[in-house]
Amino acid sequence: MASLPDLLTVARLAPFLIEPLQGAFTVHERLHELDTAAFERAAPRIRAICGSGESKVSAELMARLPKLEIVSIMGVGYDGVDVAAAKARGVMVAHTPDVLNDDVADLALALMLNIARRIPQADQHVRLGQWPAGPMPLARKMSGSRLGLVGMGRIGQAIADRAKAFGMTIAYTARSARPGLPYAFHATPRALATVSDFLVVITPGGAATRKLIDAEVLRALGPEGYLVNVARGSVVDEAALVTALQQGVIAGAALDVFENEPNVPEALRALPNVVLVPHIGSATVQTRHAMAARAFDNLQAHFAGKPLPSAVRECQQ
Ligand code: NAP
Repeated sequence: MASLPDLLTVARLAPFLIEPLQGAFTVHERLHELDTAAFERAAPRIRAICGSGESKVSAELMARLPKLEIVSIMGVGYDGVDVAAAKARGVMVAHTPDVLNDDVADLALALMLNIARRIPQADQHVRLGQWPAGPMPLARKMSGSRLGLVGMGRIGQAIADRAKAFGMTIAYTARSARPGLPYAFHATPRALATVSDFLVVITPGGAATRKLIDAEVLRALGPEGYLVNVARGSVVDEAALVTALQQGVIAGAALDVFENEPNVPEALRALPNVVLVPHIGSATVQTRHAMAARAFDNLQAHFAGKPLPSAVRECQQ
């Protein structure tokens, strides 16, 4: 019987992905991190890498794998993968777009409602027995307010679809306008922020978007404005955000992603005007199963000599 292709995992993958992988590959679970000597022995045979959206797949790692053919990411964001280095070697990179649009968009709306209506504080108000002593301070109405989307791709459009049901006015910024969409385009995040009550960030991470949301954008958002980040922590200047929140430059922030996950600065955690969740944009049973199936399908297709269901844009013909 022919031996199974060797595959290196570069994340703690869920059992519902590891199990099918083990049926089709000789799986080396995070050997590069856990057992250097075993990794050195396996490296010359490894033909595939499988990781998550947060995984780092550097040029250095790939250079140690002479037989590498494909990197399959279970996630839509692949800013941790050195795609230029992969392409230069003829290594394919695949990801799992679309299947997570609903979940990430649902979470964006949930974060907007949570920060505006102060749901975590309201929950505490009841739990801590504060209700009999009096009502909570009044919150902020979300329906009918102005949404600015930094990024209008697959997930941005799913957020806009939901915001329409809340009667929100929708505008966006991106690298280029999408003339087919019925929303106002602004050339920069700063210009968008001046006309937004909720500025929701949903671009890719990586060098091109690093600190796109800086002190100037936050000043433009203003003291009645809320920042929501469901993209990548790198897109927001976290130190500038903390200062803006401390000084009332903006009203509040709701964040799913952080600059140095899983570490969240104490200064951010201490603030009352934030809602913080641990990168759970796609973290439902249904969506993670769909993402795992797609990550596996990309690998299967590659080794069957078929076109990949979802190669990243840079690797498409
Ligand atoms: P997408 O369809 O590729 O859309 C990306 C959008 O960002 C596009 O509108 C694009 O504009 C815009 N953009 C890209 N680079 C930009 C730049 N330098 N300046 C301004 N706008 C820029 O991607 P998607 O599927 O919607 O996913 C977006 C991102 O969400 C992912 O890359 C990932 O980082 C993040 N995400 C987070 C979670 C989570 O758990 N929180 C889950 C899934 C995804 P153009 O159209 O002009 O190129």
